[in-house]
Amino acid sequence: MGTGKPPEARMKHTTQPLPADVDPCDVVGHGHRTLQLDEARELILANVAPVDGHETLPLRDALGRVLCTAVRSTVDVPAHINSAMDGYALAGADLPAEGERAFEVLGTSWAGRPFEGAVAAGQCARIMTGATLPAGTDTVVMQEHVRIEDGRAVIAGGHRPGQNRREAGEDIRAGEVAVEAGTLLRPAQLGLIASVGVGRVDVRRRARVAIFSTGDELRGVGETLGPGQIYDSNRYSLYGMVARLGLEVVDLGVVRDTPEATLAAFEEAAARADAIVTSGGVSVGEADFVVETLERFGRVGFWKVAMKPGKPIAFGHVRDALFFGLPGNPVSAMVTFYQLVQPALQALSGAVPRDPPLLLDATCQTKLKKKAGRLEFQRGILERGPDGRYLVRGMGHQGAGVLRSMAEANCFIVLPLEQETVQPGADVQVQPFAGLI
Ligand code: AMP
Ligand code: MG
Repeated sequence: MGTGKPPEARMKHTTQPLPADVDPCDVVGHGHRTLQLDEARELILANVAPVDGHETLPLRDALGRVLCTAVRSTVDVPAHINSAMDGYALAGADLPAEGERAFEVLGTSWAGRPFEGAVAAGQCARIMTGATLPAGTDTVVMQEHVRIEDGRAVIAGGHRPGQNRREAGEDIRAGEVAVEAGTLLRPAQLGLIASVGVGRVDVRRRARVAIFSTGDELRGVGETLGPGQIYDSNRYSLYGMVARLGLEVVDLGVVRDTPEATLAAFEEAAARADAIVTSGGVSVGEADFVVETLERFGRVGFWKVAMKPGKPIAFGHVRDALFFGLPGNPVSAMVTFYQLVQPALQALSGAVPRDPPLLLDATCQTKLKKKAGRLEFQRGILERGPDGRYLVRGMGHQGAGVLRSMAEANCFIVLPLEQETVQPGADVQVQPFAGLI
C-alpha cells in the first residue's frame, strides 16, 4: 500500500487521455464485487485458451511438455506372452494335482533369446523373467518351488495352470492410445511412449510468462539497501513457480510506482508473453497503479477474492495476454499463485485439467487464529501420528510477509470461509505441498 508516492502522481495520470493505440477500458464486471475462490478460479479458467503452436521433439526433450497429438501404439506391449518369474515353463495340464512329478529340462528361454523347440508332456524349459513362453507351455513355476534332481525338475502339487505369465498386449494393445493429447509428459509417460517404440512426439509450444515486481522500495539482490528499502524476493519465488511448471519466463525486473512505468511494463509484457504475472500494487493505496492501469488499458475480470492471504488480486487481459496481478506480500503472492494462477497456466499450456489438489483430514495440534468471512490458507507441518492419523501444526508466524512460513511448511491448512479460531485437537483439512508445489 502507500509507499509515500505523492497523491498528485495518480491524479495527474487519471486526467490524461488514452493513448491512441491501446484498448479502451472494458471492465467486464466483478470489479467491485468480492468473489469466492472457486468462483474466481472458474472465471479465470473460462477465459483461458491454450497457446497456439506446436513442435515435434525427441522424447527426452519433451519431459514436462504437454502432448498435442495422442500417441497411438502400433504394437502390442508386451509383444509376446512371457514369464513374470525366473523358473520353469511347462503345460499347466501337466502339473501334478498332488505329490511330486519330475520333468525333463529341454533347454532355456532367455529374455530376448527364446527357446526354439516345443515342450511336450513330461518336459519343461528353464525360463527367465521376460522370456517368451516356448511352444507347448502356458505356465511358469518359480524356481524357488523347483528342486533339481539328476538334472530333472521336480515340482510338487499346488500350482495353478496359467500362473506367472504376462499376456501379450496386457499393458497396451496395438491400435490403442498410449498417451492422450493434453497429457503433461512426466517420467512414466516418457517410458510408456518409448515402450511403444515412438521416439519423437508432437507437443505444444511452451507458453511465455512475463513477470515483474512493482514497488519503489524494491532493490535487486546484491544491491545495497537504503532506508526503508527491501530486496525484491517475489520475482524469485515467481520465477521458481512459473519455471517449475515448465513455462518460459520473461523477467521484466522491477517496475517503479508510477502510472507511466506501469503502463510501459504492461505494454512490453503483453508484446512478449502469453501471460503476465506481477506482484504488488493491487491494493488501493496511493502508490498502487496495477489495477488502475488494468482498468484503463486492459480489461479487468475481477480484483477481489475472499481468501487470506491475498484478498486483492487482479485478473484480466492486457491485449491478448492473460493478466494476474498478485499482492505484494510474499506469502500472499505465493498462495494466490498456487490457488489461482497455476491452474490457469496449466490450461494455457494445453494441459487437460487434472484432479484438484489433494485434501487430507488431519488433527490440528496447535491453536490457529481465524475470523469468519474468508477462506484461509495457513501454512503447516503435516506428519503421520503413531496411530496412522495425520497430525498438523501451524507454523508459528502466519503473517503474509513471513516467507519462512512457506519455506519451512509442507502443507496448507485450508480453513473454510465461516471457520473461526481452531482449537488444538480439532479436525482440519490440509493440502500437502507434494504434488502442488
Ligand atoms: P503492495 O501490495 O505493493 O502494497 O505490497 C505489500 C507489501 O509487500 C509491502 O510491504 C511491500 O513492501 C511488500 N512487497 C511488495 N513487492 C515485494 C517484492 N517484490 N518482494 C518482497 N516484498 C514485496
Ligand atoms: Mg507496492
